[in-house]
Amino acid sequence: MTEQRRSFNSVKRIVVKVGSSSIAYSTGKLNLFQIESLVRQLSDLHNQGKDVLLVTSGAIGTGAGRLGLAGRPRTIPAKQAAAAVGQGILMHIYEKFFSEYGVTAGQVLLTREDFSDRRRFLNARNTLHALLQFGVIPVINENDTIAVDEIKLGENDTLSALVAGLVDAELLVLLSDIQGLYTADPRQDPDACLIREVAEITPEIESLAGGAGSKLGTGGMATKISAVRIAAHSGVSTVLACADEKDIILKVATGEQVGTVFWPVGNKLENRKQWIAYSAAVCGKIRIDEGAATALVKQGKSLLPSGITGVEGLFEMGGTVSIVGPDNQEIARGITSYSSAEIEQIKGAQTKEISLILGHKDYDEIVHRNNMVLNL
Ligand code: GLU
Repeated sequence: MTEQRRSFNSVKRIVVKVGSSSIAYSTGKLNLFQIESLVRQLSDLHNQGKDVLLVTSGAIGTGAGRLGLAGRPRTIPAKQAAAAVGQGILMHIYEKFFSEYGVTAGQVLLTREDFSDRRRFLNARNTLHALLQFGVIPVINENDTIAVDEIKLGENDTLSALVAGLVDAELLVLLSDIQGLYTADPRQDPDACLIREVAEITPEIESLAGGAGSKLGTGGMATKISAVRIAAHSGVSTVLACADEKDIILKVATGEQVGTVFWPVGNKLENRKQWIAYSAAVCGKIRIDEGAATALVKQGKSLLPSGITGVEGLFEMGGTVSIVGPDNQEIARGITSYSSAEIEQIKGAQTKEISLILGHKDYDEIVHRNNMVLNL
């Protein structure tokens, strides 16, 4: 056991995410053995005094099974109908097992807008904190019955990383049918080795993440790595591990050398910046020149009107915008202090000219540094 892993022993708040393939068979019927083991371990951590949150997939797969559909439904109404049926079945089973262990569970169904809208985001946070204060284990899924594909997060790896950031968890455990991150795809390459620790998500690490996985779920290693990145910048350690391994959650939580651990970055983003970087709905683009790009990236400066070359989209002051460099790459995201119509008029101008052009000047900067996150 490494010293760093041992620190998991004293973790106070844990988010565990379980994938569809781990709690349901390919028939769409629930794997009761696995769910009971999961619930027993979570209840045990809860009894130790830890705050535990479960993010569970499986609504659509389970509903499809109950409706007698072959595999995952394709059309949006069929997915939504399957989720409505399956979520109820899932929750019933979780509730049954949790209550056997004397633990109270509470269902929380979230949509992308619960993250992208700042007020709803803060509301969701308050609700989750209240549940934890009541000693409840929140059982979270995306609200698949309501959210259509275009506005969905779509997979629960990202959802669980956002939840971990939302509640300031210290540890995120992503359970699936794979042991962790390998040097090659273990289903194809017998020489593939499990990587035990990842200190930083480099392009090499990203290139090790292949495509999507099983028939019922939606996430693959690529979505896991992008979820891990969100967690890492939110100050959360993530462990990828195999749901089938006996007592896997308890092993992770006692610091055993299982799965792959991804350590958080040293300088985590403060909560509001996490929201800007990963949750806020982007409502427009501001194009900037080379000089402004250097000022933002290298000198830690705010965005002034002089470096702006163009504006796209219609947005008001307070909207979240994407700041794009001359090579068309996103450089940063931030909350704008001026509307798109105003920026259209003052782009390229000096700060001192703002009030002359607009007849007012509430801010010197278009996007203040404190409201900006460089691309991560
Ligand atoms: N929310 C989906 C469900 O419960 C699953 C998303 C995922 O597979 O990550 O069926």
